[in-house]
Amino acid sequence: MTSMIDGQGRHIDYLRISVTDRCNFRCHYCMPEKQTFLPHGDLLDYSEIALLANRFIAHGIRKIRLTGGEPLVRRDIQILLKELGGHVAAGRLDELTLTTNGSRLALFAPILAAAHFRRINVSLDSLNPETFRTITRGGDLAQVLEGIAAAAAQGIGIKINMVALKGENETELLAMAEFCAANGYDLSLIETMPLGEGVANRQDRYIAMDDFIAPLRERYALSPLAHRSSGPARYWNVAPLGLRLGLITPLSHNFCDDCNRLRLTTDGKIYMCLGSSMNVDFRKALREDGMAAVDILLQKALRLKPARHDFERQLADPELRLSRHMNATGG
Ligand code: SAM
Repeated sequence: MTSMIDGQGRHIDYLRISVTDRCNFRCHYCMPEKQTFLPHGDLLDYSEIALLANRFIAHGIRKIRLTGGEPLVRRDIQILLKELGGHVAAGRLDELTLTTNGSRLALFAPILAAAHFRRINVSLDSLNPETFRTITRGGDLAQVLEGIAAAAAQGIGIKINMVALKGENETELLAMAEFCAANGYDLSLIETMPLGEGVANRQDRYIAMDDFIAPLRERYALSPLAHRSSGPARYWNVAPLGLRLGLITPLSHNFCDDCNRLRLTTDGKIYMCLGSSMNVDFRKALREDGMAAVDILLQKALRLKPARHDFERQLADPELRLSRHMNATGG
């Protein structure tokens, strides 16, 4: 097997798999209310996703995150959860994890635990039921909180993902930090990224992380932690809460130098960078040309992985923005 070093000399060992572009929420910063989804025939089936994952693991992928869309809305997803969990049990993967909106977690918590998911990320932008419903365009906060508690009760570590939204959840950071600390959850804060067409108020909602966390700094002491996860967050301890806080700052502090990720979309494309439309299509190779062709394409993807994203210019200039929404590649 070949090495997983990209054209910039970075070691790639992390694969994010978007298992569906569909979602039961319509978070306003993520996609428009009326979104067109991929036709079912374009989607990789579970055996195809598993085949690609197996091959990438053989080449050196050690961490897989399932995302979407909402991964837990794809029919029979437990088949894939179990299949990939087998790689953790066999020591071929160090980590198998998931990003979810939490709405179906109460149902899936035992299945995830049995499939060796040891920690998951749950997106939760507000603890106020009304604000939550507005941001998600219809989501039920109580259902999500029940799901998070069910996953925690299975011994699954929880990290809450909160997107920083100017004028919308800015005043909620202290309550969210205290909620996470009280329950033993980590908290990661994410700057909004300029992805996708038809998303209203994009520029108005953007707030730089330093401004978003100012109220937290006034009340609590933040000190940097050496801890690193496999993702882009930089971690801080919030004392005396004892909260581990991750900051994901694609715009205000670029984090591309040590990017270790590839992203597989549900229709079989590998995106090498969230901030670029460049991709390599694996579906035909998988369906018609065989594994040797897959291996060649993987080397091509590694070679072409961009040095960095360009979100700053894309935020400022609508003409440069990517038409792809976050639900295609997942977070
Ligand atoms: N449905 C799952 C969920 O809600 O977590 C997984 C997919 S969702 C696209 C993954 C993450 O991307 C979520 O935490 C969401 O808040 C975040 N996200 C979506 N659009 C974004 C954007 N334009 N900028 C920053 N984060 C975004």
